[in-house]
Amino acid sequence: MHQLTLAEIARGLADKKFSSEELTRALLARIHQLNPQINSFISVTDELAISQARAADARRAAGESGALLGAPIGHKDLFCTQGIRTSCGSKMLDNFKAPYDATVVSKLAEAGTVTLGKTNMDEFAMGSANESSYYGPVKNPWNFEHVPGGSSGGSAAAVAARLLPAATATDTGGSIRQPAALTSLTGLKPTYGRVSRWGMIAYASSLDQGGPLARTAEDCALLLQGMAGFDAKDSTSIDEPVPDYSASLNASLEGLRIGLPKEYFGAGLDPRIADLVQASVKELEKLGAVVKEISLPNMQHAIPAYYVIAPAEASSNLSRFDGVRFGYRCENPVDLTDLYKRSRGEGFGAEVQRRIMVGAYALSAGYYDAYYLQAQKIRRLIKNDFMAAFNDVDVILGPTTPNLAWKIGAKNNDPVAEYLEDVYTITANLAGLPGLSMPAGFVDGLPVGVQLLAPYFHEGRLLNVAHRYQQVTDWHTRAPNGF
Ligand code: GLN
Repeated sequence: MHQLTLAEIARGLADKKFSSEELTRALLARIHQLNPQINSFISVTDELAISQARAADARRAAGESGALLGAPIGHKDLFCTQGIRTSCGSKMLDNFKAPYDATVVSKLAEAGTVTLGKTNMDEFAMGSANESSYYGPVKNPWNFEHVPGGSSGGSAAAVAARLLPAATATDTGGSIRQPAALTSLTGLKPTYGRVSRWGMIAYASSLDQGGPLARTAEDCALLLQGMAGFDAKDSTSIDEPVPDYSASLNASLEGLRIGLPKEYFGAGLDPRIADLVQASVKELEKLGAVVKEISLPNMQHAIPAYYVIAPAEASSNLSRFDGVRFGYRCENPVDLTDLYKRSRGEGFGAEVQRRIMVGAYALSAGYYDAYYLQAQKIRRLIKNDFMAAFNDVDVILGPTTPNLAWKIGAKNNDPVAEYLEDVYTITANLAGLPGLSMPAGFVDGLPVGVQLLAPYFHEGRLLNVAHRYQQVTDWHTRAPNGF
């Protein structure tokens, strides 16, 4: 049963081939058996899962239907879940039980999903390797010596290992798309404002966006349908109607204009990844797409701008973790300053502390104009580049990552080398655009992803292109050895 996709589960439940409780019990057993090898969960919520599965079965028995009714999923451990530990991968929140559900969690629960657990992640979603979690590194099911990507590495590894059909994730600079690429999954970062951030523990509020991680575009459509929509509790949520994402999956790609940015294919990109990207373009051409070279001239400034803006916002967002109101508190503080210093010094890991320091510096009087304001100007230039490009093309295609999944520990002494892994994903966050990564092949047994970007609110187009591609390729159907 663990090989079933969300779409197949929906059909199986509707046809009464199995119940949600049977499926849930089977997957929980599989998680307990196999997860110790990959460490993809921070909490497994057996009791909650069984009760939600029974409730879903009762709703179906009473005549209700719905694609997600009874579907087992996991939530990245930064979505607040009422009464259940929500750790954000940090010692700081190791003892934090959220007093309410995030909007994404409650919407999906209403749709009938079953929460099997909370997935591992980089501490406060900072990272591209899932090595900075307080709960230990996550291993890539394709090769245990390699990272699964981050920061949603737990969600990705769990789905790739067939412990779950799909999971929620978040993407501030690439954290849905990059782990999707490194574990051979399909992952979608929606338009900024499409999915509510309420109850999603903030990293960099102007960049954070929740979205689905699954094996197929079809499943991403189903999960996004349950996540998307206006939420009055999130001041940046956008009141736009949510289209039926499944309805447009099979639309023809005849005449679809694909833009290939010339800046994407220069130095720094593994040539073996470049070859697989070109092969994916050939497949899409066979389906009727036409290809055009485009330019995104300010792309080279994206990483420096992001590493001013994201830490600046993080330093502000994380100031609430002070050892007073909630979260970790140090033992026997001698005075208030000691309490703040030691609670934060002991509760946050090294990467989080580094970002808080960089952010506080960039925002400090005298430096604000030189760093933060400059970075915001670059952000506008990057957005303008995309707007110009989308006058000529319908989607932009390229690699999701410049390199294959690296060995655990290989970049630990060089944070900037890890930052550079997000070179293709970060621009979509700076501009607020939707982006998707889909499996496009393997090099040395490690997965490669192709990224598609579209104009605002065209998630449906991304899912359509990926679905059509997945009808003529089988990369997304392959499972790692032993899973
Ligand atoms: N790797 C990037 C960072 O560390 C992006 C992380 C994310 O998208 N949450 O900030």
